[in-house]
Amino acid sequence: MAAKVFLLPGREKRLLAGHLWVYGGEIQDVVGPCQPGDVVEVYTSRKRFLGVGYYNPFSQITVRLLAREKTKIDREFFRKRLLEAGLYRDLLLSETNAYRLVSSEGDFLPGLIVDQYGEYLVVQFLTLGMERQREVILSLLKELFFPRGIYERSEGSSREKEGLPGREGLLWGEVPPRICIREGDLRFYVDIYRGQKTGFFLDQRENRKVLQGLCQGKRVLDCFCYTGGFAVAAAKGGAREVVAVDISPRALEGGRDNAQLNQVEDRIRWVEANCFDQLRLLERAGEKFDVVVLDPPAFTKSKESLPSALRGYKEINLRALKLLHPGGVLFTCSCSYHLTEPLFWQVVLEAAQDAGRFLRLIEFRRQARDHIILPTVPETYYLKCGIFQAL
Ligand code: SAH
Repeated sequence: MAAKVFLLPGREKRLLAGHLWVYGGEIQDVVGPCQPGDVVEVYTSRKRFLGVGYYNPFSQITVRLLAREKTKIDREFFRKRLLEAGLYRDLLLSETNAYRLVSSEGDFLPGLIVDQYGEYLVVQFLTLGMERQREVILSLLKELFFPRGIYERSEGSSREKEGLPGREGLLWGEVPPRICIREGDLRFYVDIYRGQKTGFFLDQRENRKVLQGLCQGKRVLDCFCYTGGFAVAAAKGGAREVVAVDISPRALEGGRDNAQLNQVEDRIRWVEANCFDQLRLLERAGEKFDVVVLDPPAFTKSKESLPSALRGYKEINLRALKLLHPGGVLFTCSCSYHLTEPLFWQVVLEAAQDAGRFLRLIEFRRQARDHIILPTVPETYYLKCGIFQAL
């Protein structure tokens, strides 16, 4: 029988409102034998049932709920969860063969990420509780989705917080180092073994599409371009010229290949540079653009470094605005969870004020719909994308 975790009095509010996490400091008592990673039942101090989850006392987030009803956590449970995840993507996506098939909390499978790239799957087990389910999950992924291969990219800070070492490599079948994916009329190569994250920024798919529609005949600057997701979309959308900037030579190499794959290589210029420097350089050279895209990495992964991150975001937005022709488009993103939507607005508006520009909102967007946002779990919302006309 599963051990029972009892919360301190009054600490059940968040779970009752639909959140899925219990912090260590909210627990009064654990009754019954329980190893790190084991499945437990969670109750209020008055013994009201709240859900079933897994337990890791080494993590600040000590319990993550897998279900809000009383249910057995067995192979059948995971089979249903994965099947639901697949059906949800069938409903949402038609134009692509690359998407997030399992989105952790968003699919009630906290700690599990599965990205589908054509016939291949890339997985991340990010918590001890999910690590313990590794074999069940892998056998179910094969049974339900028939991949030709499964590759693991379990790395990054979240595993450290769980007391787990990083792990990567081939888990099953075969996975070529480079896979070609389709997004509408766009094609991209994805470097599964060595690309950033699981290889590609699938969370920007729908935003790429929107950018594509704004670029006919335009001169476009794509800052933090990685392998050219936005740059290629802009060129394919008819941009006259695209300048794409990234600090990583490897990313730019991927970008060049992607440009060729989409037959737009003659209209994209790739620049290896620090964007902070390059933006200043372009300004000094008197360059102007019709569209500037900013999609930096998360400048902060904690609340503590938020102030310096805010300065960074403000600086790039300010400099981007200075490069825009009157009536040009600022396409500005942030993937920092800690930079909340109100703060993001504030940064952009301050930058506009300092640049002496007046903004019109064209559209405000978020992460692609397969990267599920649960309104009751604010931590699932991280990617902001503001599209403004700068007068
Ligand atoms: N826009 C991309 C994803 C960007 S990820 C897409 O849609 O695919 C962030 C990128 O910023 C990474 O490729 C990283 O190499 C790059 N980067 C990080 N710091 C940088 C800096 N100071 N200057 C330029 N590029 C930087």
